[in-house]
Amino acid sequence: AKESALGPGLRRYEAKLDQQVKRRDQMSRALIKALENDELALHYQPILRGCGGPMLACEALARWHSEEFGFVSPGEFIPLTEGSPHLCRTFTRWVLNQACRAALEWNLGMPHPVAVTINIAGSEFYRQGFVADVEEALITTGLARDLLIIEVTEQTLIQHIDDAVGTLHQLRWRGVRCALDDFGTGYSSLSYLRQLPLDILKIDRSFLDNLAVDKTAQEVTRGIANIGKVLKMDVVAEGIETPEQQAVLRDLGIEHMQGFLWHRPMPLDVLRGALQSA
Ligand code: C2E
Ligand code: MG
Ligand code: MG
Ligand code: MG
Repeated sequence: AKESALGPGLRRYEAKLDQQVKRRDQMSRALIKALENDELALHYQPILRGCGGPMLACEALARWHSEEFGFVSPGEFIPLTEGSPHLCRTFTRWVLNQACRAALEWNLGMPHPVAVTINIAGSEFYRQGFVADVEEALITTGLARDLLIIEVTEQTLIQHIDDAVGTLHQLRWRGVRCALDDFGTGYSSLSYLRQLPLDILKIDRSFLDNLAVDKTAQEVTRGIANIGKVLKMDVVAEGIETPEQQAVLRDLGIEHMQGFLWHRPMPLDVLRGALQSA
């Protein structure tokens, strides 16, 4: 009796897994086509100096509107690129080139420079030849080196910390800055953090939960910001949505901020307008 109860359930489970694998497969193929057919776009979200001051940089965030699947979030399609070395490299080179060209353009005639930050997945960051691809994008687009910032998550860095130190140094020698993204979620030890040539520390959005009312959360956040400052990094809080969060973060001494409170990620032509009025 037990077996017959398990049987259909297991089959349903298998069928569901099967469907998921199929969807992933179809989506991967669609993504390759999307790259060829310009179905992908980068949106840009400003990171502001001080509390709502001028822009320090804009973060490039990938968007995919697929004919077949509709809007697919980066949370779903970035892992697909990580499954295939070729797709991963093609995607990263596309992001690098788009982002560098965009930043070159938006800096024309700007009174103060606004850098571009791009997100790099672990499979790309640790790939032989990644730094060479960054170099190539800088040379072909002509973007000033100090206007490119590479964001890697703490999760990525702790995977292979020794290799990570090497790649970060290579990027720094080339004049490219690096940011540690989603900091506070990866359990990296402080002794490692001290060895890493990082320029920017982005405090993960999860630290904002309850921040306005929870004194302990405030002290933890202050501690993280202080670590960044002692290590001479620019500290950025990301994901700020309310004036209350902004006020608390300002009181905690956080210098730079990013979030829907000021700007959502936007297409390049909308960003142009925002830059003009900034
Ligand atoms: P991330 O790099 O930590 O980016 C921040 C995410 O938070 C973005 O989601 C952004 O739209 C969202 N966000 C910004 N401000 C707020 C806010 O005030 N409230 C809330 N609720 N959300 C906010 P998005 O664009 O969906 O990207 C998710 C993740 O996907 C990114 O996290 C990044 O890890 C990855 N990703 C996006 N584009 C790329 C890319 O071109 N390459 C790679 N490798 N990863 C990417
Ligand atoms: Mg990021
Ligand atoms: Mg982040
Ligand atoms: Mg994130």
